[in-house]
Amino acid sequence: MKVLVINSGSSSLKFQLRNMTDHTVMAQGTVEKIGLPMGIVTLKAGGMKVSRDLHVANHEVAVELALSDLLETEAVGLHSLDEIDAIGHRIVQGGDSFDKAMLITEDVYEKIREYGAMAPLHNPAHLKGIDACSVMMPGKPQIAVFDTAFHQTMAPEAYTYGLPKQHAEKHKIRRYGAHGTSHKYVANRVAELMGRPLEELKLITCHLGNGSSITAIKNGKVVDTSMGFTPHEGMIMGTRCGDIDATAVLYLMQQEQIDAAEMDRILNKESGLLGVSGVSSDLRDIENAIAEGNADAKLARDIFIHRAKKYIGSYIAEMNGVDAIVFTAGIGENSIESRSDICAGMEFLGIRLDNEKNTVRGEECAVHADDARVQVWVVPTNEELSIAEDVVKLVETL
Ligand code: ADP
Repeated sequence: MKVLVINSGSSSLKFQLRNMTDHTVMAQGTVEKIGLPMGIVTLKAGGMKVSRDLHVANHEVAVELALSDLLETEAVGLHSLDEIDAIGHRIVQGGDSFDKAMLITEDVYEKIREYGAMAPLHNPAHLKGIDACSVMMPGKPQIAVFDTAFHQTMAPEAYTYGLPKQHAEKHKIRRYGAHGTSHKYVANRVAELMGRPLEELKLITCHLGNGSSITAIKNGKVVDTSMGFTPHEGMIMGTRCGDIDATAVLYLMQQEQIDAAEMDRILNKESGLLGVSGVSSDLRDIENAIAEGNADAKLARDIFIHRAKKYIGSYIAEMNGVDAIVFTAGIGENSIESRSDICAGMEFLGIRLDNEKNTVRGEECAVHADDARVQVWVVPTNEELSIAEDVVKLVETL
């Protein structure tokens, strides 16, 4: 079965064509700067990469370009669009309506549209991708795979905020979490690597990238996760503030006469590692600045490490233990120092790294000391594979 995975953003479209029968990635690519005067279309297949600059008017044109590149590039090995069996779309916000992948029917489409109010940068862009595929490949099954679905197993005490019930219920304000596809993938994968059933494990999965979230998974079910109503809550991130006293936000708005849209921009785009360090949202730049003696950069990174420890500790308490901690995404997979600083000082809990093993970057590897009670793993995430697997499972039932 051949599955096209699409991640449609407001101005970009990422795609991957996977052959799920022989487990190969046939091609992957991006269309960037959709709607701007000059766009960039990139395709990688069979070890080669081609890129061209051209105006991409809208998402429909973006999908058209992606499909024609897939067909016309010999290295891809696709001869007709009919060979593509189904399309999987990454959807950021599925609210409390979806705990699994869904065939995109009119009702599902409408729900994704409704939840656009909570994810204005993402859901409307996903719909554009779905619409474009409907035009270019009419009749093909399109499947929605929700970033929120894996987190739907949380208990009310983990997902409910202390707001008045009438407001919370009317506006569906609660913890939904995000990065669910990534947490689910690395949880399943680490269980395989450990040779134990996921249903018997207590795991803490740390997706640490430009966006970061930490999730507690007990017996295969999410019991808590650090992102909340939106991906803003929890860890300090590249440009997101993460956890903050809500009234500090109101105070700042009053003091500086800042309106809601501007405050949203400050919290999501100007805060986090960037806001605290004044250097960059990228951890590598922060680490370089620290090496040059920049105290603000050091503080930004210290907050990141501190908060990761705080979540790990609280999740161990929630689950009454942990069998394994998993690091994934840009920082989790590559930053040796972040992994070792996060795990340092938790020997009391049975967490201890092997410094030699922890030199790994971007590869599946156990990095804990042989005699440590808790296993610690690096598992590179693969959201596209996880989406394609969900698509195959669902299409087989149609
Ligand atoms: P996104 O959330 O945009 O997918 P990524 O998962 O790619 O982001 O993570 C980006 C982050 O990973 C950046 O902060 C980057 O500095 C960090 N990163 C990537 N490689 C390294 C590395 N070798 N050492 C430290 N940080 C790294």
